[in-house]
Amino acid sequence: MKFITYQINEKTNIGALSHDGEHICDINRELGTNYKDMNQLIDEISDSELALLRTKLNESDIDYRIPLNKVKIMAPIPYPKRPFFCLGKNYSEHAMEVVGLPGAEGDIPKFPIFFMKIAAPAIGHLDTIPNHLEITKMIDYEVELAVIIGKDGINIAKEDADDYIFGYTVANDISARNIQRKHSQWVKGKSLEGFAPLGPCIAHRSNFSTPIELAIKSWVNDELRQNSNTRNLIFDIPTIIHELSKGMYLRKGDIIITGTPSGVGLGFSPYKFLEPGDIVKCEIEGIGILQNTLAEN
Ligand code: MG
Repeated sequence: MKFITYQINEKTNIGALSHDGEHICDINRELGTNYKDMNQLIDEISDSELALLRTKLNESDIDYRIPLNKVKIMAPIPYPKRPFFCLGKNYSEHAMEVVGLPGAEGDIPKFPIFFMKIAAPAIGHLDTIPNHLEITKMIDYEVELAVIIGKDGINIAKEDADDYIFGYTVANDISARNIQRKHSQWVKGKSLEGFAPLGPCIAHRSNFSTPIELAIKSWVNDELRQNSNTRNLIFDIPTIIHELSKGMYLRKGDIIITGTPSGVGLGFSPYKFLEPGDIVKCEIEGIGILQNTLAEN
């Protein structure tokens, strides 16, 4: 199952994607529910409702189909309740390419590096990323697997971590490298308006077997820049959830972005930062493609 937030006739709604990926069904109409947005769906959807939706999608037993090309795709959670929980340097080849950032001495971290990124609103597939030319000319892309928490929990054991996941989506952790460098914390350079592309959908955890081993790639103007697999995470998803939840609640709807593989603009010599008008495409196997353009002006 893939969940999507979409806009049609200026009304925002939540839907599920058909198996061919070309149609959306209106979840509230199919289930007889009244979820006002994805946050409420994640908070309240029951196992029986999920099972009913799965059955309807499998049997194509849906009486209301909207062609995907007739809607505007929004970020699946346009207004996350809390900032993104982020991992820094969580692929070893990336850890080696970002020498020079505060806290990045080119070594492999012994413990997860956590930080937060303001991400409300998150922007959706095909939305434009503001270029903030007045304060940065060093805008970078980072494709990341995003984990959506589906159950509140504290002190979560690694072996139970999967029970706390609702699903997965694709994030592009857009970063202004000059600002990230200038301040000793990364939050400011990661949190400019429009710097949190997310989507196109949330793929439910039941779509995947564990451990999660998915191809993860990004392109800039069709040039392949990042190409790895989530099996290469230094700290895997159960470890991230275990460490992050020690003495601290993870809540339904929380979004954890798990780090980016090598191939970011900062890792090239000379640098390959995004230029106005550049199209950046992020893809994770089994979830989809998140494409955004850096504003021309
Ligand atoms: Mg990142």
